Amino acid sequence: MSQVVTRFAPSPTGYLHIGGARTALFSWAFAKHEGGKMLLRIEDTDRERSTEAAVIALIDGLKWLGLDWEGEPISQFARAARHAEVAHELVRMGHAYYCYCTPAELDQMREEARAAGRPPRYNGYWRDRNPAEAPKDVPPVIRIKAPLSGEIIVHDHVQGDVVFKTENLDDFIILRSDGTPTYMHAVVVDDHDMGVTHIIRGDDHLTNAARQIVIYNAMGWTVPEMAHIPLIHGPDGAKLSKRHGALGVEAYRQMGYLPAAVRNYLARLGWSHGDDEIFSTQQMVEWFSLEALNKGAARFDFVKLENINGHY
Ligand code: GLU
Repeated sequence: MSQVVTRFAPSPTGYLHIGGARTALFSWAFAKHEGGKMLLRIEDTDRERSTEAAVIALIDGLKWLGLDWEGEPISQFARAARHAEVAHELVRMGHAYYCYCTPAELDQMREEARAAGRPPRYNGYWRDRNPAEAPKDVPPVIRIKAPLSGEIIVHDHVQGDVVFKTENLDDFIILRSDGTPTYMHAVVVDDHDMGVTHIIRGDDHLTNAARQIVIYNAMGWTVPEMAHIPLIHGPDGAKLSKRHGALGVEAYRQMGYLPAAVRNYLARLGWSHGDDEIFSTQQMVEWFSLEALNKGAARFDFVKLENINGHY
């Protein structure tokens, strides 16, 4: 088997939070366990929300945690020309097409679908239409042709085989009218070009995985192995927030927590090795497997973090 390549792909819109740090830790531990490498890709295509300060904060957070990556961090934004190139290639191959619908037409389409009791989606208007009919004054987007029937199965190391009916996928946009890629498309092109073999990320991306597989299949690219980890909740079961004591990694550093303790605690959020609570990072790497990731949501518990820190 070829060398294992994982990646951590944060969007630089804030500090490194507990959830992101845990995703990075699992991606790192799996790569180390397999004798492979982790890459770092900064998903900075959202120019409004991405900041240089956040890039620095993410990198500092990873360094403090002792999670290293191979080579330079890769900027997704810097790869925009490549994303556009693949989108146009998909059009040439007949797997994608230019769509000239105006916002008003799309609104009307959604209204009609709603009125007919169908999900409010794009109806494939330009899918088989002659491009000669295209209006000259509307810059087109590029949409991928989602399969009209059948299933997309995400073979997931945590969730098992997750089946998506393709009738629930619309012809989604891969390139916007200004030539910039959507998240869905950029991620696939980057993961392919970077040689990523295993994608480990939060399960809020599980439905995206089905759409991303449509792009992999259209390009004839191998779909990487996937592991979608359940999100972290607060002790009360609600979405994790600051009120649960879940802070940015930087805050724990400032409070004097030790990186080894934070690593140990993060590892226990959704991964287990028997009843072991306290273990070294070396042991974690030795024992790590995707199959041991928990299916249920992990619960953040500030007291446990303090207890673990007390052991270091
Ligand atoms: N940039 C995405 C995020 O921060 C992750 C994308 C991915 O892992 O595919 O949620």
